[in-house]
Amino acid sequence: MLNGKSALITGSTSGIGLAIARALAKAGVNVMLNGFGDAGAIEALRAGIEKEHGVKARFNGADMTKPTEIAALVKAAQTEFGALDILVNNAGIQHVANIEEFPVEKWDAVIAINLSSSFHTIRAALPGMKARKWGRIVNIASAHGLVASAQKVAYVAAKHGLVGLTKTVAIETANDGVTCNAICPGWVLTPLVQQQIDARAKANNQTVEEANRILLSEKQPMHQFTTPEGIGALTVFLCGDDARSITGSAYSIDGGWTAQ
Ligand code: NAD
Repeated sequence: MLNGKSALITGSTSGIGLAIARALAKAGVNVMLNGFGDAGAIEALRAGIEKEHGVKARFNGADMTKPTEIAALVKAAQTEFGALDILVNNAGIQHVANIEEFPVEKWDAVIAINLSSSFHTIRAALPGMKARKWGRIVNIASAHGLVASAQKVAYVAAKHGLVGLTKTVAIETANDGVTCNAICPGWVLTPLVQQQIDARAKANNQTVEEANRILLSEKQPMHQFTTPEGIGALTVFLCGDDARSITGSAYSIDGGWTAQ
């Protein structure tokens, strides 16, 4: 059913975004990759997806803090594939500090990448989706879109904002063949979380294994990481025909974090 459709996945050179791009490509979707990283490594990822799944895979390195680059990215996907059917807003960064010590430029960057970039991509992608009466928007929020933690003021504000943005877009597009949903993962072992574990291990004089265990057990009843592949599979489901009446939802995939 998704075979031959086209998707843009922001922040897909690593972690969750890369797993989502691979899951969509496996379902026959052409994918536009985006994100930062070593040019040779990104080209290997892109070519690998084309070879393994027989779809078109393209790359555009637009910076999600720059609205003009974001507009050009959406246009590039539309031009390259003829249409943009699926938009996954996944790019994100983290910064951990108490609010009094939180650098203003880090606040601005987290809000720009984790929240405002989705406003810019959605407003550019929607006219084409509405004209074709089919579209899927999946916003990768977080358990921190539903509940808060100390020292993550910008991230929590951005992710709560992203869940709100999701609901508004869902209501505005409810009768246009377009759905808009958020996915709210708990801990997923990607470079974004590995940095936090390494910092905590160093600060608290723990091994990385101890820091892993403590991090998980502080927040999640289930002492296991969610996998990027699980989030990829949920994204494919939300893009499918069986999910056509699911819109405006915030799907937890968090080992029970927000059940407490
Ligand atoms: P990651 O660091 O592995 O990947 C982040 C991606 O975003 C990379 O491709 C990176 O290049 C890209 N990126 C960063 N800044 C960018 C910019 N300015 N412009 C374009 N691309 C940029 O992180 P991840 O853990 O895979 O996170 C992906 C998403 O999932 C984020 O939105 C994150 O908040 C969310 N999330 C992660 C977890 C987790 O535990 N890892 C939990 C909940 C939600």
